[in-house]
Amino acid sequence: GETRENLTYEVFGTAVRELAQAVADDGFEPDVVLSIARGGVFVAGGLAYALDCKNIHLVNVEFYTGVGTTLEMPVMLAPVPNAIDFTEKKVLIADDVADTGKTLKLVRDFCIDQVADVRSAVIYEKPHSLVKCEYVWKKTDQWINFPWSVLPPVHRSGGAPRENREAL
Ligand code: 5GP
Repeated sequence: GETRENLTYEVFGTAVRELAQAVADDGFEPDVVLSIARGGVFVAGGLAYALDCKNIHLVNVEFYTGVGTTLEMPVMLAPVPNAIDFTEKKVLIADDVADTGKTLKLVRDFCIDQVADVRSAVIYEKPHSLVKCEYVWKKTDQWINFPWSVLPPVHRSGGAPRENREAL
């Protein structure tokens, strides 16, 4: 569709606190927050602080190559977390959005055999997601602009490179 869901850093701050509150109200006390990089890193950091959980792990998953364009399947990139890190632990998987849900399913399936309890928390969930997350801040069927990825990467803003400056 034409319209976008625009998340600002300010609203994100509120969203992640409300998401954490939903986890706490549910009585879930994760031993580890597992973030799906890169978008899930922001969510995982906010959740871990709000839930007073000092254990954050990270998994890299590559799926989207552009707006609405994906690889055939998401793939976990090296280094894959050690299974031992999750054995019999309560794991909260954190991501920015469950869209197709394939990314979350991949990570859930990776965890599910070895952990006591694995649940997922996302800021957004799309209606067609094949994984229904336990904790969702907002449901939408629109493409979401996240504050961390809406702008292009920064570039050196002019002037000579630092290493040449002295010589000039
Ligand atoms: P899924 O595997 O659920 O289809 O997609 C998961 C990942 O794709 C998300 O963590 C996110 O990085 C990216 N993604 C999916 N939908 C959107 C969207 O609407 N907006 C943005 N910016 N990224 C998205």
